[in-house]
Amino acid sequence: MRNPLGIHALVWSGYWKRHDIDFAIGNSSKLGFDIIEIPLLNPYSFDAEYTKKVLESNEIKPVTSLGLSEDTDITSNNKQIRNNGKKLLSKALEMTLNIGAKYMGGVLYSALKKYDNPPTKDAINYSMDIIRDLCNQAKNVGIEIGLEPVNRYESNLLNTASQALNFIKLTECNNLFVHLDSYHMNIEESSYHKSIAQCGEKLGYFHIGENHRGYLGSGHINFKEIFSTMKEINYDGPITFE
Ligand code: MN
Repeated sequence: MRNPLGIHALVWSGYWKRHDIDFAIGNSSKLGFDIIEIPLLNPYSFDAEYTKKVLESNEIKPVTSLGLSEDTDITSNNKQIRNNGKKLLSKALEMTLNIGAKYMGGVLYSALKKYDNPPTKDAINYSMDIIRDLCNQAKNVGIEIGLEPVNRYESNLLNTASQALNFIKLTECNNLFVHLDSYHMNIEESSYHKSIAQCGEKLGYFHIGENHRGYLGSGHINFKEIFSTMKEINYDGPITFE
C-alpha cells in the first residue's frame, strides 16, 4: 500500500484547451502518476466532456482545485461578491463531478491575495456559511472538500494547519479536510511534525513543493520529517507535486 502520487496540471501547461488537455493528461499518465490535479481556471468555460474522455483513455484519476479572486471573495462585506463566490464554487463542484473527480481543494475560503487586515468576525462567518453549504452539496454527490492553508501573502484567513482544523471543527462538516502544502508550511508553521501530526485523520491532501518552488531536493524543505510524520499518522491520501 502506498500513497497515490499526483502531479499538478500547471506543471505541463497554463491553459486548458484540447491540446493542453491531451499533453498534460497524456504525460502525467505516461510517467506513472496516479492522479492529475486539474486547476479549474474558469469553471464556466471548462471543457469537462473532453477532459473526462482523455482521463478515461489514459486511465488516470483527477482531482480539482481552485482559488477565489477579489470578485468572488466569500469573506467580502459585499453581498454580490459573496454570491459570485458561492456560485463559482457550486459551478466548480459541478465540473469536479462531471469529470469524475472525488476531491476538490484549494483556497476555497477566501480570495487568493494579500490582505491588508486580519479577517473580521463577519468575514469568518461568511466564509464558514458558504463552505458549509458547499460541503453539503458535495456530500450529496460523494465529493470531499479540502481547505489549503496558504502563507500570509496569499490569504489572511487560513495560514496554518491549526487554523484550518479549527475552521473545519466549527463548520461541523465531515467531508471537509485539511490540505497541506510544504511550501506554505515552511513560511507559517513552527514544525512540520507538529502540524501534520495534529491533523491526524483530518489530513486529506498534500502538496509537496520546495521552499522556492524549484526541483524537489534542491531547496531546504525537510521532506524526511514530512514523510515520516505522514507514516506516523497512517496518512494514505494523495501526495501531489505542485
Ligand atoms: Mn499548494
